[in-house]
Amino acid sequence: MSRFWSNIVHELTPYVPGEQPKLANLVKLNTNENPYGPGPRVLAALQAEVGDTLRLYPDPNSDRLKQAIADTCGLTPAQVFVGNGSDEVLAHAFQALLKHDQAILFPDITYSFYPVYCGLYGIDFETVALTDDFQINVDDYLKPNGGIIFPNPNAPTGSELALGEIERLLKANTASAVVVDEAYIDFGGESAASLINRHPNLLVVHTLSKSRSLAGLRVGYALGHPDLIEALARVKDSFNSYPLDRFAQAGAVAAMQDQAHFEETRRKVIDSRDRLVAALDTLGFDTLPSSANFIFTRHKTYDGAELTAKLRERSIIVRHFKKPARIAPYLRITIGTNEQCDILVSALREILS
Ligand code: PMP
Repeated sequence: MSRFWSNIVHELTPYVPGEQPKLANLVKLNTNENPYGPGPRVLAALQAEVGDTLRLYPDPNSDRLKQAIADTCGLTPAQVFVGNGSDEVLAHAFQALLKHDQAILFPDITYSFYPVYCGLYGIDFETVALTDDFQINVDDYLKPNGGIIFPNPNAPTGSELALGEIERLLKANTASAVVVDEAYIDFGGESAASLINRHPNLLVVHTLSKSRSLAGLRVGYALGHPDLIEALARVKDSFNSYPLDRFAQAGAVAAMQDQAHFEETRRKVIDSRDRLVAALDTLGFDTLPSSANFIFTRHKTYDGAELTAKLRERSIIVRHFKKPARIAPYLRITIGTNEQCDILVSALREILS
């Protein structure tokens, strides 16, 4: 505590990201990174940026990147906003679209950054309980609100809300913005981006951190009606003109244009997920159906915290959330390569025996 801090700083409860241990030879399955690196086209684009032009500022509007994203998504650049990771895009969405007199709504079990942004920007929120089987029930959101946000698939459960249900929500909820955080959509879900032209209050947020293997580059984007995009741009240009550096812009353009690498790696992750779920099943785990690059799983008898600690002793890192109590038995495990998944399964077999 410092007397030099502003009042808001005293009151903040910052987000705690999954650990990035500085140890070699870990089986790191705790932060939903892609086990496959970016493709050679991305690496070549990054290398091409190393040079004299680094003395110049990057394009403040990331126009080439917006065009590449628009082309991939079948939208126009005016419907695209880009930021330094989808976390930054989400932060701007909270400030630009979700800060109103009425409380916003999000699930009680969800991405734990949402309440942090509410704290930072002074936004009232109300959490809506997931059903007993950890699903979002759209009917529970049909009430007056200052905005709605949820991930699809949800985190940390991996559960997908069907596109038809999202459309039902949008038809019923026209008076406030609905933000769908699709960080994990490419691993099996159906994107709500197809609804943007029909619903001017829908903002869809994507990241290049997961399905495009670029968590280290920090690029995310939002898709929506140009009025929503303008709101985000106004916040961005009141905060940081250059959130994406030259590397981020060049690498992200190359990544958006390399559909072959994207398709190949996401297919491999999906196949490994199915294989891992089947193996865990034989060890007595119950796993929620996942449309993400991670699974949420619990053992029939063993405690989540204990399993996490025992895996750690074997240099395998997974994520465990102590709260709320309802999810304490669960482990959130990122899908690695088949080799990494096999190491995990062998370790669990040993721990459980
Ligand atoms: N949304 C969800 C649901 C996430 O789990 C994450 C990753 N922590 C993000 C957004 C942010 O990802 P990034 O900032 O790397 O784009």
